[in-house]
Amino acid sequence: MVRARPTRKDAAPLSSGFVFGRAIGPGWLFPRSGIHHLWIVLPGLDILLRRRSPADGGHACSDLSDCCRRIHRSTCAFVSQHGDRFRVRVVALVLSLGECDVDRRHCQTRAGRSRRDAPIDGHIDSLQRVLVMGEDLGKRWDVGHVDIPRLRAGGVRAPFFALWTPVYFEGAEAVRRTLDLRDAMQWLLEEHRDQIELATTAADIKRIAKANKIAAFLTVEGGHTIADDLRVLRMYYQLGIRSMTLTHSKNNNWADSATDTPVHNGLTDFGREVVREMNRLGMLVDLSHVSDKTFYDAIEVTSKPVIISHSSMRALSNVPRNVTDEMLWTLAKNGGVIGINFGEGFVNPNDVEALNADIKRETDATSLTGRALDDHAAEDVRKLFGTRAKVAATIEDVADHIDHAVRIAGIDHVGIGSDFDGVSGPPIGLEDISKMPALVDSLLKRGYGKRDLKKILGDNFLRVIREVVGK
Ligand SMILES: [Zn+2]
Repeated sequence: MVRARPTRKDAAPLSSGFVFGRAIGPGWLFPRSGIHHLWIVLPGLDILLRRRSPADGGHACSDLSDCCRRIHRSTCAFVSQHGDRFRVRVVALVLSLGECDVDRRHCQTRAGRSRRDAPIDGHIDSLQRVLVMGEDLGKRWDVGHVDIPRLRAGGVRAPFFALWTPVYFEGAEAVRRTLDLRDAMQWLLEEHRDQIELATTAADIKRIAKANKIAAFLTVEGGHTIADDLRVLRMYYQLGIRSMTLTHSKNNNWADSATDTPVHNGLTDFGREVVREMNRLGMLVDLSHVSDKTFYDAIEVTSKPVIISHSSMRALSNVPRNVTDEMLWTLAKNGGVIGINFGEGFVNPNDVEALNADIKRETDATSLTGRALDDHAAEDVRKLFGTRAKVAATIEDVADHIDHAVRIAGIDHVGIGSDFDGVSGPPIGLEDISKMPALVDSLLKRGYGKRDLKKILGDNFLRVIREVVGK
């Protein structure tokens, strides 16, 4: 039992800052009361708190940790934000009578503990906005799906920033483009040192998240970007890149893509060498975008768990970019993890046309080079962000895909790979990364427990990073 301590100078009475909503889950006991309130909460339950505006006479809290500081220490175990609502997970039986005080130091420690959970998104394409449109992701934008404020609002601590080079950049041009994107990332890291930091290990992710910063984990999208040269791959590793999809939307010289006519029957001998070199270096082999045969070839060669960073279920939306149940079983046997893609056609068969249009735009060949090629790519990026496809997909479709993946592969092999800023039409209810708490709500309603949610939201990816990239 924890008794409320006397109110101190910097304390905010709970009753003036918050309206208690409801506890989620069976067996809760949580009477709402006035200024002198009594609250009895059982461990393991969630409470939703609604923030009052200062106009209501309440204390506005600026962010989650601020909110946490204003809540009695015993409840500061787990917090997330959804609009003006804050979710708090209770870890201890709390009995409190009278006004509650604020113990900042203690609350910060508890908040830090929850941050170590490090929710991970296995794929975002936001760097092209920095490179092409010069957008500063340190600010909140109305366009696109991800920026640092929205990552914070969504509770996502460690996104995989994809250095996505369209397949019409070939050979040396693809290397140049990848370096340009890496430079854009560097700009973001240096411009917002206090908010975002490069993560190259699992320990980095935990440490950076604990410091209340965004942990940027770097990936390369498309094996064509190594220009058939393992030395380039090794230099990408030196630049802090820790993952690569073997292909993007077209075949390259050593691997077949899911969205092209196969020419290699999977991986060539050099393709197998690439997988082995990635294993040796400690880079995640990412099998999103590859053909089924390339997937099985890579699984045969790899000595480490793989990832499928941003794909969904073919059983629910039958597109080649998604995976079959058999691939999921194989992934589970390998010890890997799949990040569920939120993109419209990935999760809802009625939106497949929009997805195919995206893929076509990305794969149309061009003979341009240098600045003209950059301009061509810039035009593409603007088109992607200029049109917001009307979608049938909803947040519940995404939850259905997670359910299916968990049913087939098991809870230890499923994560999130939103593909935000890489798809033109995210689902209704999940329009950008700040909406992640709504997905968590949906999963809670479907009966996922605390431990299961932690796995889906980051622990599974973290485990694979630890095993492959290093502690
Ligand atoms: Zn992709």
